[in-house]
Amino acid sequence: MPSGSVRRSIATMANSLSLKHGLSLWCPQPASLNRIPQPSSIAFSSSPRTYVVASSTFANQNREFVIVGGGNSAGYAARTFVEHGMANGRLCIVSKEAFAPYERPALTKGYLFPLDKKPARLPGFHTCVGSGGERQTPEWYKEKGIEMLYEDPVTGLDIEKQTLTTSSGKLLKYGSLIIATGCTAVRFPDKIGGNLPGVHYIRDVADTDSLISSLEKAQKVVIVGGGYIGMEVAAAASGWKLDTTVIFPENHLMQRLFTPSLAQRYEDLYQQNEVKFLKGARIKNLEAGSDGRVAAINLEDGFTIEADVVIVGIGAKPTVSPFEAVGLNSNVGGIQVDGQFRTKVPGIFAIGDVAAFPLKIYDRIARFEHVDHARRSAQHCVRALQSAQTSLYDYLPYFYSRVFEYEGSRRKVWWQFYGDNVGETIEIGNFNPKIATFWLDSGKLKGVLLESGSPEEFELLPKLARNRPLVDKQKLQSASSVEEALEIARSSMQVETAA
Ligand SMILES: Cc1cc2nc3c(=O)[nH]c(=O)nc-3n(C[C@H](O)[C@H](O)[C@H](O)COP(=O)(O)OP(=O)(O)OC[C@H]3O[C@@H](n4cnc5c(N)ncnc54)[C@H](O)[C@@H]3O)c2cc1C
Repeated sequence: MPSGSVRRSIATMANSLSLKHGLSLWCPQPASLNRIPQPSSIAFSSSPRTYVVASSTFANQNREFVIVGGGNSAGYAARTFVEHGMANGRLCIVSKEAFAPYERPALTKGYLFPLDKKPARLPGFHTCVGSGGERQTPEWYKEKGIEMLYEDPVTGLDIEKQTLTTSSGKLLKYGSLIIATGCTAVRFPDKIGGNLPGVHYIRDVADTDSLISSLEKAQKVVIVGGGYIGMEVAAAASGWKLDTTVIFPENHLMQRLFTPSLAQRYEDLYQQNEVKFLKGARIKNLEAGSDGRVAAINLEDGFTIEADVVIVGIGAKPTVSPFEAVGLNSNVGGIQVDGQFRTKVPGIFAIGDVAAFPLKIYDRIARFEHVDHARRSAQHCVRALQSAQTSLYDYLPYFYSRVFEYEGSRRKVWWQFYGDNVGETIEIGNFNPKIATFWLDSGKLKGVLLESGSPEEFELLPKLARNRPLVDKQKLQSASSVEEALEIARSSMQVETAA
């Protein structure tokens, strides 16, 4: 429970808001929760559309390749276009943001380091920091002959005429179109105070800059949501030495992935860092103070938590507007594509967070809000554009987080998960610093999470998750260390599998 900052309130508001579905998790439909058969009715076209004439100077309205969205997947797609000699004078990226694509995960990590601990700033994390390679600054795009249209979101699509319109009134004709519009943060409705000054949602650099200027004046920070955003922002706020409380409706942190006992380890660590938790909390409304800024959060059970900054991390939804006409998936949301990222409309593709694609390894349709998928889907899509022979996308679910990494923190936290979190779990290790959770389904190892592993141990995880070996449960349970448990799992693999 939070300390004295929580007081009883008799506030009554007719419309209460449940956070039941409000976890912020990069996999919005995690493996174990989302067994959806792949529809066979959707027809994907393999025939390329007639190309418009490419203009090396972009002097006219014709573009051969257009990417809508200037985020992670657009950045990696641009890099793949360059690698295949398909960019110079042929590629245009239309972005809503004012910046060239950057590694978005940094926003709740290095970007939020305390101001005296060398926080990350652009151009330090433009795309390709994450996977090595040249840093893709605005100059990089110029040098590669890629046209960048900044702060000009696409507002309309005409499939017949193969044209896009932008908010500034540009009309762009495309040969092939890649939709890479990512996700939009879920917001609390205005009527319950979701738009008050001091209430923040984090999706881009502008959002995070605004949060930082609020944190500079803050004393009491309340974070709503026990998912990735919640965990990462709470770790950052504790580094700023602010009075920090995390509230969420579930029983423990990261409910969609962590087991209760694993979550407890992390919650203890956060508490050692002075972060308070209020679990099982349901928000009624956010209340303004006399200055019009957020001053408190009222809960359904009558509690009120004082706050001068509120960060809301209750999930994200795919940004499908204005592309609904190319076919949406009603189960996982997003734009439906095939294993080569083709929508049902010839010449139109979708990648990254917004794409609902066949997850081959588990034979279902899925959508992932994850930077690794953004990168891989971009690369795969551009290869498919170049050659109709490209194999089908075969993604292995992978999630990670890193927190408390600023200089002087008591301990850093870095975990990775690969596979499917189905079946029974076996936990090995004491969190000092390592711990591992193994998911066994009908005796087969389906998923594995590791905290504070060595590079070699982390490299083993995707091999295990792909191989899905039959593991001797008793033997695994009796392992006396994470190292021994990983060795038992490794030696159970029939054939070593590539990641
Ligand atoms: C704060 C934060 C932290 C994260 N941390 C992690 C992490 O630790 N690990 C991890 O794996 N993943 C993390 N993610 C998720 C990861 O960043 C995304 O999965 C990844 O960015 C998806 O790439 P994308 O290109 O599909 O979408 P985005 O990177 O979101 O890019 C979409 C772009 O499209 C633009 N756009 C939207 N609509 C239009 C339009 N109509 N016209 C033009 N442009 C438009 C948006 O402004 C944005 O620039 C994090 C995300 C956030 C927000």
